[in-house]
This record gives sequence, C-alpha cells and structure tokens, in this order.
Amino acid sequence: TPLANIRNFSIIAHIDHGKSTLADRLIQKTGGLSDREMSEQVLDNMDIERERGITIKAQTVRLSYTASDGETYQLNLMDTPGHVDFAYEVSRSLAACEGALLVVDAAQGVEAQTLANVYQSIEHDHEIVPVLNKVDLPAADPDRVKAEIEDIVGLPAQGDWQDGGAVLTSAKTGLGTEEVLEAIVRRIPPPTGDAEAPLKAMLVDSWYDPYLGVVILVRVMQGRLKKGLSIKFMQAGTQHLVDRVGCFGPKRTELPELKAGEIGFITAQIKEVAETAVGDTITTVKNPTDAPLPGFKEVQPVVFCGLFPVDANDFDKLKESLGKLRLNDASFQWETESSAALGFGFRCGFLGLLHLEIIQERLSREYDLDLITTAPSVVYKVHMTDGTLRELHNPADMPEPVKVANMEEPWIKAVIYVPDDYLGPILKLCQDRRGIQQNLTYVGGRAQVTYELPLNEVVFDFYDRLKSISRGYASFDYEQIGYREGNLVKMNILVNGEPVDALSMVVHRSQAEARGRQLCERLKDLIPRHLFKIPIQAAIGGKVIARETISAMRKDVTAKCYGGDITRKKKLLEKQKAGKARMRQYGNVDIPQEAFIAALRMG
Ligand code: GDP
Ligand code: MG
Repeated sequence: TPLANIRNFSIIAHIDHGKSTLADRLIQKTGGLSDREMSEQVLDNMDIERERGITIKAQTVRLSYTASDGETYQLNLMDTPGHVDFAYEVSRSLAACEGALLVVDAAQGVEAQTLANVYQSIEHDHEIVPVLNKVDLPAADPDRVKAEIEDIVGLPAQGDWQDGGAVLTSAKTGLGTEEVLEAIVRRIPPPTGDAEAPLKAMLVDSWYDPYLGVVILVRVMQGRLKKGLSIKFMQAGTQHLVDRVGCFGPKRTELPELKAGEIGFITAQIKEVAETAVGDTITTVKNPTDAPLPGFKEVQPVVFCGLFPVDANDFDKLKESLGKLRLNDASFQWETESSAALGFGFRCGFLGLLHLEIIQERLSREYDLDLITTAPSVVYKVHMTDGTLRELHNPADMPEPVKVANMEEPWIKAVIYVPDDYLGPILKLCQDRRGIQQNLTYVGGRAQVTYELPLNEVVFDFYDRLKSISRGYASFDYEQIGYREGNLVKMNILVNGEPVDALSMVVHRSQAEARGRQLCERLKDLIPRHLFKIPIQAAIGGKVIARETISAMRKDVTAKCYGGDITRKKKLLEKQKAGKARMRQYGNVDIPQEAFIAALRMG
C-alpha cells in the first residue's frame, strides 16, 4: 500500500461512551470477520477487561476499506488503554498515529477522561474527528454536545461532517459507520516516512503469547522490518532475530514486511515482556539509525503493597503465579518480604490502584489464591540526618524518627468533572485530603475542578468516595507533578501491646489522629473477643494517639449452647476451627484476614 493510502488512528473516549462497540462496527463493515465471529467483542481480550469495560493492552486492527473515491485504504485502528494508570502506554500508542476519533456519548457529553485524552492527542498533533455516538437514545442531545465539544475541547463540531463537523453515529444500530470511515480517509492525514532510510520503529506494546512467545506491536517510522533481520533495541541495548512479521485483521496474518508508516507486529523469540520496554526504538544491527525516538520513559511503579498467602502453604504457588503474571506485565514488580504478622509474602509495586486491583483479581481468579493485601503505600523520599537519601516503599522499613531530617511525598494534579449538584461534597472531600484548589470553572451545569493532592491521600479510597458522593457522575483524572516536603510520620498499630507490622502506615501528621481512631474502631469490630481484654492502640513513636479495647469473653464458648446438645457443641467448635484458618496469630491474639483489608478501605 502506498503511504497516501494508509491511515493510522486511535479512538479516544470516556469509559462506556461506545469505543469498543464502534470499533466492532468498523471491523464488521470492512469485512474483517464473519457475523458469527462478531458475536463477541473483539478488542478487549481479557475477562477482566471485558467485565470492567476497560482496555489494558494496546491492540491494533488492520482494516481494508474501499472509499467513495474508489481507492482502497489500509486503516490501522489502535485501541489504547483507557485508564490513568496506563498514561505512558497511552502516550506511546498515540505517538504511533496521525489522528484520532473522539467518541462522545451524545446523551452524556464531554467527561474528564475524554478531556485528558484529547489534550494528549492534540499534543501529538493529531487530526481529531469528533464522533457523537448513541444518537439513538431519547436523551441524546447532539446540538448541546456539539457546543460542549467546541467550548470545552476547542474543536470544531457544529458543521456537517463533510465540512469538518462531528459525525453522528449509533454504534448500536450501525447508523453513521460509513460516514466515520469516510471521515477517517478524508480528514486524517496519511503517515510520512522514508522506507529506504535506516530502520526506525517504535515498540508500542508487547504481550506474551503461549505459542509465539512475546508479540511486539510496532509502528515503523522509517525503513523496513522483515523476517530474518537482526534488530537492536536501542534503549535496552539488546539484539534479536525477527522470526515473524504481520498484522491483525483482526485475525493474525503474516506479511513479508512492514514498511515506513505501517503498524503491525513482530516476534523475535523473546521469552519475557520485561525484555521489551514500551517506547523503545527498534533498528537494525547492520545499518542502525543514528538517534532513538523521543519520548521514551522507564515505567516505575507508584503504589506498593504486600501480598501474603492466607494459607502459608500457598507461598510457592503465589510465587509461581506472580512469576507468570510478570511474564506478561513488566510494569508490575515484586520481591519477597517477611512480616511478623503475616509470615512470608511479597512486596509488590503497581502503576496505580486499578493496576493493583487487576493483579489481585487475576491472582484470586486465575490462580485460585486467597490473599491478604496490606495497606497500599506510595514511595516516599526520606532525607536522613547523615545526608543520605532513601526511597521508602514499605512503611515497615521506616527509619527511626531521630535519623530522619525530613520527608517528601509524591503529589498529583487531579482534574475532576462533576455536575453542579455534587460540587459541595466533592470540594469537601478534596479539602479533607489536603487538596489545594487550583481552578474551578463551570460549563453548562457542570463544574471542572482542578486540585493538587498528595498521592497518598488518593491511593486509599479517594476514587470510591468520589464515585459514591456523586452517584457515579464525577470523573477523575490525574498526573504526577513531583515530590514535596510533608510532615509525615509512621503510625503503628499495637494489638495487645505488640506492633503489628502489616498494619503500620505512613500518614501526614494532621491526619494521624483521625486515621488512627478510625482504624482502631474498625479493628475493634473485626478482631473477635478472646479470653482476655485486648487493647488496640494507634501510636506514633512512643505516643499513643488512639485507643480502643476489646472486652474479654466468657470462659466457655460452648456455654451458649444450653445443655447437652452434643451435635450443636461440635458444630460450634468446628466453626471456630474453620474461622481460625482465616486468622493470623499475633502474639496470643488471633487477627482475622478482614482486619488487614480494613486498613485499605479507610475514609
Ligand atoms: P467503551 O467503554 O467506550 O468501550 O463502551 P462500549 O462500547 O463497551 O459501550 C458501553 C455501553 O454502551 C454498552 O452497553 C453498549 O452496548 C452501549 N452502546 C454503545 N454504543 C451505543 C449506541 O450507539 N447506542 C446505545 N443505545 N448504546 C450504545
Ligand atoms: Mg471498551
């Protein structure tokens, strides 16, 4: 295909606005699959992706479309991850395209995630085609949403689609699909790039396939990628031999080559995705390009927590399962950790809370593991009195206060988009989480609020709270804006006088009392009574800041079974025994699994 007949585009949309449904329509219209094969959504492969309606990996589909001008075009549709945790991956996918479809629900209008993605798309100089989807809905108000796109996003949308206006679609009924394809061909520019120049290709994404090994999604910027070629990853400094080149249409098809301007996949007998860094530049060993592509970043986990098997015998299984997950997800890190309370487990790093939840869910679902997750923590910078700097990933490793000169914590800039009615409680939530308001604007009955917030106030349950306060209407997006000094302390939780390491956390001094009190109250309800009184305390250093007491239980547990009903007594004892299995002994106190999870859900 000549360059002039190639179009590379991504679809950007807020969750549920119809990105996947529209993509399916485009595939169906261009004949990539039979009707029967279309019965399943094509792009979101993983169960979790489908259930949560989010895309985790970038994927592409190559479509062949004969337009009204009689020419046949190669359209490469790139589906990008739809969550802030994967912002860097999104930026690389966008860098592989020349344009984007901006899908907006014609009943809902513009949302925060739409905006964040559009701004990124604009930064990549994309030609953006607005698409108003769901026009079949009675509540659809295309004129209002067109005006919103012009006011908020700053893109023309009013005119007819042929004159640069928005395309109206119903991905549900198929209305407007043809117009979308025409708009892609007419409005999105073709790629540029010299196929005869030295190879320069971007590694957009990669995943593990049990039959092919690691499959790498690439965008060729210049030169050609062929089977049998010796290639070099410029950032990683490694060399490989290309053994397959192809594209997904959406079925996997092998091709003789990928040339400048094209998107496709290669395999090169690579065993782990950890060897393939998103954003790396691929060139040839023999005739390399002189400079790597701009924009490469090494992804670093931002949220850490401990994962421990409920049953200590599952340690090896957990280790093996983590290893398998890591085969396919290099952004997630782990190392062994031991806790006095929880025994042996793993300290794991994630890109964000959603990423953490996905991994946790896969471990319990695909690998059938019962896990205890300790409170998530961000990475703190600890300046020691001896002048050295430490990165703190685990509150349990916090140096003694006298050795700490000061501490820094990561901050984010959050953009929240919320209907007017819910604004008050949202502002209060941000304020309570030490937020600093930057901006507040109104557009058509909705407020857009910008706050700077400490990340550690967000990793707890900020998002859940935001959603529940606004009945799901608020949207939230964030980016990291660097480290700032904060008055941070380690809070220990003592059960019966002994510190439980897995419950300790780093908190801001101003939040410590409230957090401590809450956690003690929570634990009081979650830890069963024992034969003795159990004090539960929150303490900073030697100073107790909150305290609750679990009163002692009567001696004979079976006393409540009046008289001699033996089977009943037995049942009760068995129940207790089963309960024990899900408890952790600490000192002489049994702490149930839920207690550790409680630290996660604070608010
Ligand atoms: P995504 O999260 O952006 O990928 O959204 P999906 O494509 O998964 O769509 C979200 C929901 O909206 C699904 O229940 C779709 O069936 C529905 N949907 C998508 N497009 C339309 C449309 O044009 N009209 C109506 N009524 N529903 C739609
Ligand atoms: Mg989807």
